[in-house]
Amino acid sequence: MAQKDATPQTTAPLADPGQVKRGNLNSIVQSQLEKAARAINLSKDVALILSQPKNEIIVNFPVRMDNGTFQLFKGYRVQHNNILGPFKGGIRYHEDVTLDELKGLAAAMTWKTALHDIPFGGGKGGIKFNPRGCSKSELERITRRYTHALGSNIGPEFDIPAPDVGTNAQIMVWLMDTYMNVVGFEEKNAVRRVVTGKTITAGGSYGRESATGQGVVHCIVEWARAKRFNLNGCTYMVQGYGNVGSWASKILSKMGATLVATGDYKGYIHNPEGINTHKLADYVTKTGSVADYKGAKAITRDEFFQVEADIFIPAALELEIDEKEARALRCKLIVEGANGPTYPEAEPILAEKGIDVLPDILVNSGGVMVSYFEWVQNKGSERWDLEEVEQRLEHGMKRTYAQVQELTLEKKIDYRTAAYAIGLRRMEQAYSERGIFP
Ligand code: NAD
Repeated sequence: MAQKDATPQTTAPLADPGQVKRGNLNSIVQSQLEKAARAINLSKDVALILSQPKNEIIVNFPVRMDNGTFQLFKGYRVQHNNILGPFKGGIRYHEDVTLDELKGLAAAMTWKTALHDIPFGGGKGGIKFNPRGCSKSELERITRRYTHALGSNIGPEFDIPAPDVGTNAQIMVWLMDTYMNVVGFEEKNAVRRVVTGKTITAGGSYGRESATGQGVVHCIVEWARAKRFNLNGCTYMVQGYGNVGSWASKILSKMGATLVATGDYKGYIHNPEGINTHKLADYVTKTGSVADYKGAKAITRDEFFQVEADIFIPAALELEIDEKEARALRCKLIVEGANGPTYPEAEPILAEKGIDVLPDILVNSGGVMVSYFEWVQNKGSERWDLEEVEQRLEHGMKRTYAQVQELTLEKKIDYRTAAYAIGLRRMEQAYSERGIFP
């Protein structure tokens, strides 16, 4: 991409938090990096390197639609950093996808894998369109054309996509199939791990579909243990009832917690007596939304944020909790299932109200952890059973949670700054050992 200003940059651009561009996820993620960098006195050189992604790839590709006409799509892949391992991150299909949003999400993947000591880097990709407006065969052709347009910019040891908003296991299988059919017969089966989050038959891992929601719940359990808070009988609300929101809800309800409100792109619903999480998930699978679900009353988005519940799980899109929502919320804990749901301006309001915030890079990493397990299984032609995957996931989530909690207490910093700091220290160590080449 052409740059407006070719002057080399010598310091990370957002050293002054006052420069953060409102509503720009990339700018917010970078400001969070700056805050953590100050807390641990991170090397200025490392902060500079991490302030921009390594590669920003944009592809424009035509697709033949069902009515026979061609439509031109814009696809992206941002590769933020790979010093700790291959670029890794989801593919998003959404009408609001932008390069800047993906830059922020790709950077967050870098901190996330570093925090959990997963030997991957960070990346994110997407296509700007509304997948709900397309037929299954159009989605298949869009996915295959996008994969082909990316070509060797992705690869099983280089950059490994996964599902994100608007994509699922079927889309990952089309991506894998397209990639494996262009590398040649001999290589074909060896490259399954070019993508994770596949169906089980195509080489996916048991436990991947539920992994992010399960990881969210592991963090809630650890928080509750430290606070001596009883989850059995507590209430919670969830924004977004897709992969992350529905799985977190189903697992929490098994523990005796009650879902009292939820909502998505089409509407919000409330029932103080409780909503059946499994029936609601079946309803969403059939209709695509929680709107008009019979077991609850329709409410507005504003009313949703005023619902009384012990725990709030944002699991939709980024930048949903601004100052207004922070003032309205009446929970004890926010668990960021979504990436980047909270505005920096909302954080002091939440802190003032005594609401804890468990950050995205800690909480929603169950997905990338099991993606890593899937990649390792594919590489060794292995198949682990569900119990083994779940045990490894629980161990990984709890180990990282304990490290973050320890640092919050030691440095008297919030969970987000502590989580960033742990990841950044690992990266700083890698750069201090390896330097830059040539
Ligand atoms: P999904 O597509 O399965 O579900 C997204 C949900 O958000 C849907 O219920 C959708 O209706 C809702 N939504 C979309 N636009 C909305 C709007 N404007 N207002 C309210 N709700 C809206 O996606 P997902 O995989 O569950 O991802 C949800 C979040 O979790 C995203 O931020 C994603 O980046 C993050 N995440 C996902 C994974 C994963 O493994 N799937 C891993 C880590 C993080």
